[in-house]
Amino acid sequence: MPSTTHRDAFHFDHPVASYWEATAEPLGIDTAPLAGNVQCDVAVIGAGYTGLAAALRLRSEYGMDVRVLEAAEPGWGASGRNGGFSCIGCHKRSYSSLIKSYGLADTRHFYATMKEAVGRVADLCAAHGIDAWLNQGGEISLAHLPSRWAELEEKRYIMAYVFGEKLELLSVDQLKARGLWAPGFHGGIRNDTGFSIHPLNYVRGLARAVHKASVPIHGRSRVTRWEERSGRHLLTTSGGTLSARNVILATNGYTPEDVSPYAQGRLMPALSNIIVTRPLSKAEHEEQGWTQRLMAYDTRNLLHYFRLLPDGRFLFGGRGGTDASDAGADPMKQHMIERLHQMFPVFGAAEITHFWRGFVCLSYDLVPYVGPLNQEKSVWTAIAYHGNGIAMASYSGSALADLIAGKPERADLPSVLTRRLARFPLPFLRPFYLKGAYLWFNYEDRN
Ligand SMILES: Cc1cc2nc3c(=O)[nH]c(=O)nc-3n(C[C@H](O)[C@H](O)[C@H](O)COP(=O)(O)OP(=O)(O)OC[C@H]3O[C@@H](n4cnc5c(N)ncnc54)[C@H](O)[C@@H]3O)c2cc1C
Repeated sequence: MPSTTHRDAFHFDHPVASYWEATAEPLGIDTAPLAGNVQCDVAVIGAGYTGLAAALRLRSEYGMDVRVLEAAEPGWGASGRNGGFSCIGCHKRSYSSLIKSYGLADTRHFYATMKEAVGRVADLCAAHGIDAWLNQGGEISLAHLPSRWAELEEKRYIMAYVFGEKLELLSVDQLKARGLWAPGFHGGIRNDTGFSIHPLNYVRGLARAVHKASVPIHGRSRVTRWEERSGRHLLTTSGGTLSARNVILATNGYTPEDVSPYAQGRLMPALSNIIVTRPLSKAEHEEQGWTQRLMAYDTRNLLHYFRLLPDGRFLFGGRGGTDASDAGADPMKQHMIERLHQMFPVFGAAEITHFWRGFVCLSYDLVPYVGPLNQEKSVWTAIAYHGNGIAMASYSGSALADLIAGKPERADLPSVLTRRLARFPLPFLRPFYLKGAYLWFNYEDRN
């Protein structure tokens, strides 16, 4: 278990009590645990978007013999409990710093890949008949301080100049006129790309597609030991042992560092939290000034993300908090309610029906990594989506399949995603790095 987390965050024996869990279509497939000693070409650890997208392509495109091992049930991790914002993201770097590190051409390639990844989610839903409540319309970033308005203007200029992207700037009056306003916002910038989804319906739909492609998904099969013998990997669960030539570690913020030596010290799990209100009436939406189902977030470093759900409820999320124990849940819920009340007084007065949280995953370089984890190229991962993995995990999982099948040209990955998964300096200090970063972010977010 990573040292930045707490064992309470790994209740694999029951699903998180989210709004998604309460409204999702049943999984409806057999996920019998691994039993006995079994062999395959590729073992996938983790049945979220990454692992399932990889398994699906390995089987359907390359005919490989694949099995998925999942500690709980498909979608138990972040994939079944996120905010459902399928949009451009997945890194925590400014574009100017990416250009400095990777060059202009590769930064452009990276941006194009992120955009393509969003389309991939819609394609997968269409191809496999997944009803994930897709709601098109793009996203909006809202200035939470007057000073952030200038930054949004600069962002629009950079996005147009570097990526040829036309973003729309909206003044306070325009926000009000469009039903996208609350008292603390000082303008916004809108991007057409992206749509919201029901994340658990999406991941369960992927699991059904994987099952239909004749790939066994073994639920309740937590890998507790990982050995290497004669060029094969032996993964032990409580029910059996899976022997595979290749392993995909698709565990993102839930990566078991104690089991896998390959990712040790390279990942920083961080909490993201969500509350959902009771269904709100149209009159309440209008009184608040927020009537659209557009995906929205503010300009804080520890950002808040929010959207109206199809039944009129308001979903309000926020990054932050470092106590992942069960005891830390209630204070975080209270904090989220207070924040909702400050930012959206009308919505904040309504009953909160759901609260849950989960781990997103950061890397030292603040970009994801897709590729091998060992020199022999038998252990692979796609990981560290920085809280924005619906699209990029779906895309990177498929890309991993291409890499394993020896077809890197089909994956066509930018170097931003493939250069390295660096170790954090003195990894045991990661909890302190996170706390320090949060202190700094909180200071910056007020100024
Ligand atoms: C609260 C929250 C809100 C978010 N909001 C958004 C959003 O709006 N938009 C967006 O794009 N992204 C969002 N994200 C991030 C996004 O959900 C993730 O980036 C993405 O789901 C990662 O997918 P994954 O398949 O790599 O990992 P996960 O979905 O986390 O799956 C990892 C799986 O590995 C399994 N596992 C762990 N250890 C073992 C083991 N030893 N043996 C077997 N299985 C194991 C776990 O049970 C888990 O199911 C959010 C995340 C959270 C937590």
